[in-house]
Amino acid sequence: MTQCVKCNYDKKGIESLVFQGEIWNKIRNNICMDCWSEWEDDMQMKVMNEYTLDLSNKQHRKYLTEKMKEFLSLN
Ligand SMILES: [Zn+2]
Repeated sequence: MTQCVKCNYDKKGIESLVFQGEIWNKIRNNICMDCWSEWEDDMQMKVMNEYTLDLSNKQHRKYLTEKMKEFLSLN
């Protein structure tokens, strides 16, 4: 179980996240699967469309990461 900082519930954690690094460890340790799915299956695309982000652009990737942290209450 993971105590999720976004929804504040003890819920099933994320098992499918393979990325390495500080932000990903934070997500693995502090975000539940439901909130992560909400971002990955829905919000991420909305943010990308809203700001017309191009993931081959480093600045855009950085911006998307900031938006992700914001959405997941990790700031
Ligand atoms: Zn949650």
